[in-house]
Amino acid sequence: MSAELLAYIAPYLLSGLLSSAISIYSFRRASTTGARAFGFLALFETIWTLGYILQTLNPSLNGKLFWNDVQFLGAVAAPLAFFIFCLSYSQSSWMRARHSAPIAAVLSVSLLALIWTDSFHHLFRQGVHLVPAAQFTRLVFSDGPLFPLYPLIGYPLLFLGAYMLMSSIITAPRVFKLQLATLMIGILIPWVATLVTWMGWVPVTLHDLTPLTFGASSLIVAWALYNFGLLDLNPVAYKTLVERMTDGVIVLDNQGRLLDLNPSAQAILDLNLSGALGTPLPPEHPLAHILGNDPQGTVPARVVTLPVRASPRHYEMKVSLILDHRKAPSGRLVILHDITNWKRAEKKLETMALTDPLTGIYNRRHFFDLAENEFSRSLRTGAFMSLILFDIDHFKSVNDTLGHLCGDQVLHDLAHRCLAVLRPYDVMARYGGEEFIILLPETSCEEAAQIGERLRQSIAGEPFVAGGGQAAVTISLGVACQGQQEVETLNSLVSCADQALYQAKQAGRNRVCLFQSAREGRLPMYKN
Ligand code: GH3
Ligand code: MG
Ligand code: MG
Repeated sequence: MSAELLAYIAPYLLSGLLSSAISIYSFRRASTTGARAFGFLALFETIWTLGYILQTLNPSLNGKLFWNDVQFLGAVAAPLAFFIFCLSYSQSSWMRARHSAPIAAVLSVSLLALIWTDSFHHLFRQGVHLVPAAQFTRLVFSDGPLFPLYPLIGYPLLFLGAYMLMSSIITAPRVFKLQLATLMIGILIPWVATLVTWMGWVPVTLHDLTPLTFGASSLIVAWALYNFGLLDLNPVAYKTLVERMTDGVIVLDNQGRLLDLNPSAQAILDLNLSGALGTPLPPEHPLAHILGNDPQGTVPARVVTLPVRASPRHYEMKVSLILDHRKAPSGRLVILHDITNWKRAEKKLETMALTDPLTGIYNRRHFFDLAENEFSRSLRTGAFMSLILFDIDHFKSVNDTLGHLCGDQVLHDLAHRCLAVLRPYDVMARYGGEEFIILLPETSCEEAAQIGERLRQSIAGEPFVAGGGQAAVTISLGVACQGQQEVETLNSLVSCADQALYQAKQAGRNRVCLFQSAREGRLPMYKN
């Protein structure tokens, strides 16, 4: 082989070697979207290049024709692989185009069969002969009547694929645009070269420019596919995934400017995508305050409350730094996960744990939690504190006359009538059955007895209406005070109130009794 011929062949060899290496690498990276289809594209480009080199080197007409057939295997299959690559890359809106892949495959295989059987019919190549050139003999032929099938099948596939790729560049999130544009440039180089060769815009010695460009083209595409550090995720799939997420996804750059907002984030932040992109969050926005002034600062996960369409909603907010391929921070990713329903359920559970379901007032357990605090405070400071324990008189007969459900209604209404008499800082709870307990902070015995009397009058003053019937109800109340009696525990104080209540019942019901220790003599009673 002459040095000149070697110099001519060497760039093609290099190009072929590069595309074959990238083809192998792509098959190994099959998990990356599009890698397998790209592997086939690079493989067919390698075959194309190999066919071209061996056609050039082979001196005989038959040998050249054989390698020309091999070259056409690459040249026919490459546009098909390109089309399938673009299809797999632009999934979402092109699902329908998927069905065109088998048709394209059948057409390509038929074309190849036509080319490979050309020696029998000469419908593809005509007037095949050798022309001696300086470094090698060239295979020359004119187009047969069916030769136009080659561009007629190949070019629509190339144009369709390029169109799909272009559309995905337009709709892709900003972070992916550069990757897609690089991909596009890489992929288009050989097709431009083909056009240039076809139009005869190249020097004669560079007989076919196309195979020469495969290596560089594959390198650029492989770099776009594998080395952008953008996960191994197809941008279109990423877009579909993120767009459909109910979580708000916000991407901020190093200067705190908005790079991307999915529809959920637009609704949460009440921002319009086109107006907001490229600008920082408005300073008055609550999230701008939470994210802080340092655009590279870390923010611990937290729950944030944001007004969404005028009503507050709760979000679990997670902020993570986005690192580029050099591991340097290039922005922040903010995820807002709506936990409003969860918060509501939590609140409901909390309420359920504290309140009595029938009356809606505090339950006995919560009453004791609150009362223990108040009791120790009163022990510490010597402040008064009083308790009222009361029981509905002859409640059994209310149930008997009106029925149990109406009895429930009376219990509920009675509790609320009491609440209306009490002061805001008094604490009333259902003690059990039809007994209630009231904590009166900083209240002396006298004041407590007066409050008890007001309660008694309020209940006795007006009958309760339930289920179309009426029930005249009275209550008996026992009052005990901390500060006068020497009790050391809350339970003892409750027990004192219980004893006073027992006294009230004993004395004929519908009355208030104040607990007094035995040495203090008779219990005072209040009754109208
Ligand atoms: P007194 O207290 O005056 O001695 O008579 P009483 O009839 O109220 O007797 P007691 O306190 O011993 O009985 C309580 C009654 O209250 C018995 C029970 O049927 C009724 N009761 C307790 N809890 C509820 C409830 O949640 N709903 C209804 N409807 N009735 C209840
Ligand atoms: Mg009772
Ligand atoms: Mg009772």
